[in-house]
Amino acid sequence: MKNKNNKPEWVPENASDEHFTSFVMKGVDSVHDGLGGDTAMDFSFRNLKKRKTLSLDDYKNGVLNCDINILARAITLIESNVHIDMAQSLIKEILPNTGKSLRIGITGVPGAGKSTFIEAFGSYLVGLGKKVAVLAVDPSSTLSGGSILGDKTRMENLSRLENAFIRPSPSGGALGGVARKSRETMLLCEAAGYEIILIETVGVGQSEVTVRSMSDFFLLIQLAAQGDDLQGIKKGVIELADGILVNKCDGNMVEKSMMKVAELRGVFHYIQSPTEGWTPFCDSCSALENKGIDNAWNLICGFFDNVKNSGVFDERRHLQRQEWFKSVLSEEIFRKFYSNEKVKFLYEQLLHEIKNSDTPVTLAVQRLLKESEK
Ligand code: GDP
Repeated sequence: MKNKNNKPEWVPENASDEHFTSFVMKGVDSVHDGLGGDTAMDFSFRNLKKRKTLSLDDYKNGVLNCDINILARAITLIESNVHIDMAQSLIKEILPNTGKSLRIGITGVPGAGKSTFIEAFGSYLVGLGKKVAVLAVDPSSTLSGGSILGDKTRMENLSRLENAFIRPSPSGGALGGVARKSRETMLLCEAAGYEIILIETVGVGQSEVTVRSMSDFFLLIQLAAQGDDLQGIKKGVIELADGILVNKCDGNMVEKSMMKVAELRGVFHYIQSPTEGWTPFCDSCSALENKGIDNAWNLICGFFDNVKNSGVFDERRHLQRQEWFKSVLSEEIFRKFYSNEKVKFLYEQLLHEIKNSDTPVTLAVQRLLKESEK
């Protein structure tokens, strides 16, 4: 391979080939797959179809006709923060077709069996002729950009059913604006005709409060195997629940699960129900063995009958819309505030000063606010 023509250009003209261990290899003239022989492939992107840009009408009609691809793209539009005007026009257009679903929030620590339960429960509901959408509100995506809920391959059977739609939690690219995005995603699913929206979250952070505030019914999945402390479940999460299911009530855990059910029923006597006129239920199930799923649905139907008859359902929705307005407003104020470069700079500086006790905290806040008003 070593020959005169392939010598590096810095090699003196008269140098003999033997003195050099390096040489310049002839480059590839045409596109090639790198394999030996004549297997050159066309790597040009000529043949790849560009995705059609959708108009507002395309989005609207696609969502209302439950075109899954367009629904998914509409959700991405909402999550992306790039085309806010278009996204908001879409929400305005579909608003009359929203609000008719049953919104069910589901929480529990990682490993409690939420995905397995949603797989079993969602499939059961589809079997009853319902259209079911599953959304996730992931606490970690707001903090770190990672995802607790979205990383695993989840709900494979449910995802294959025609009347089920599963949307993983927004990826790291869609940070911030959880209050807005998750609710607007829910509205899009409702406009697409999904009658039951299951909103999953992990009961270890603040996200369960967000999910409670967008659900009609809030379900906590518990385990008998560990004490509540070990499960990382705060008492506050139990206080948010309209119902608790002790999952994994199978094999040698049946007896312990029943004891846990009795214990939790006792706890309900001492805490206030999150829903006026409703006493939260506690029962057991085995999501893995598909046991107690129909019972869970009957209990939840009992809840909806109760709150719809009493007017609590509508009242909660009205209050939730007001809370929604407030949380989107505060998210926007925060976003605007910190998008000011001078504010960002001073913020970092003040953090440092406060750490060293150089500046009183209230004074630091006032300086920051003044800077933002300039
Ligand atoms: P998540 O993190 O709450 O979504 O929990 P997963 O649904 O991923 O379940 C965690 C583990 O518990 C998995 O290995 C499941 O197979 C298992 N699991 C879930 N439900 C049950 C159940 O009812 N019985 C038993 N024995 N195992 C279950």
